[in-house]
Amino acid sequence: MKKRTFLKTGLFFGVATAASSFLDACKTAGKNPESITANPVIPPPKLRRTTPFELPKLPYAKEALEPHIDKMTMEIHHDRHHQGYVNKLNDAVKNTVYADYELYDIVARVTTSDEDRNIRNNAGGHWNHSFFWETMSPDGGGAPGGELATAISKQFGSFDELKNLFGTAAKGVFGSGWAWLCVGKDKGLFVSSTPNQDNPLMLGVVQKTGTPILGIDVWEHAYYLKYQNKRPDYVSAFFNVINWKEVGMRYEKAMFG
Ligand code: MN
Repeated sequence: MKKRTFLKTGLFFGVATAASSFLDACKTAGKNPESITANPVIPPPKLRRTTPFELPKLPYAKEALEPHIDKMTMEIHHDRHHQGYVNKLNDAVKNTVYADYELYDIVARVTTSDEDRNIRNNAGGHWNHSFFWETMSPDGGGAPGGELATAISKQFGSFDELKNLFGTAAKGVFGSGWAWLCVGKDKGLFVSSTPNQDNPLMLGVVQKTGTPILGIDVWEHAYYLKYQNKRPDYVSAFFNVINWKEVGMRYEKAMFG
């Protein structure tokens, strides 16, 4: 998004103050305003990042999710694919308004513009994979408990119905993407899917925004070595490693802060 469009849209949404402090921040940072991008609806963040993005460590051993997800897939997926998103993101944000934004702040503000595409793909890639590793556990599987279990029954009728909806969304992604369980603005749960590395935090990018609490990567790199073209088998196996304790904590955080 160019400066002129930014100002016009920014004023339209009544965030003139945010826009001017934003431009001041750019001046002090010595950035070229013509290369500025960012969703003008959300003011720039106050907290700024001081170190490059880094690949997070896996919270378990690479073979820990076997037989559901094999060691070599985890190795390639984490060490190469995720590392690739991290490296490309560090390059992509250089000399843009996002240069010192935290990951969440980039993901929430990135736009559908051509200039943002590389940042959107790689910030999404980094956020989604960091979230995905923590979504799984060798002690996972079974069914959710607590407040989340109650909410699932209320929203979907039963846990089996959620499994059905989530599975259908995951299997239905054409090409590469993700399926999600989210908490919406109305605090209700919903299931959605996104293409490529988009996610439900991307305001103005995805059809329905919300706070993701569960997500499955259905890119072929997530399952092809073990499951080849049988994505439904991978989706079924994923349910054996879901860390419902973590998902439940995310739910409570999204609901009650
Ligand atoms: Mn992946």
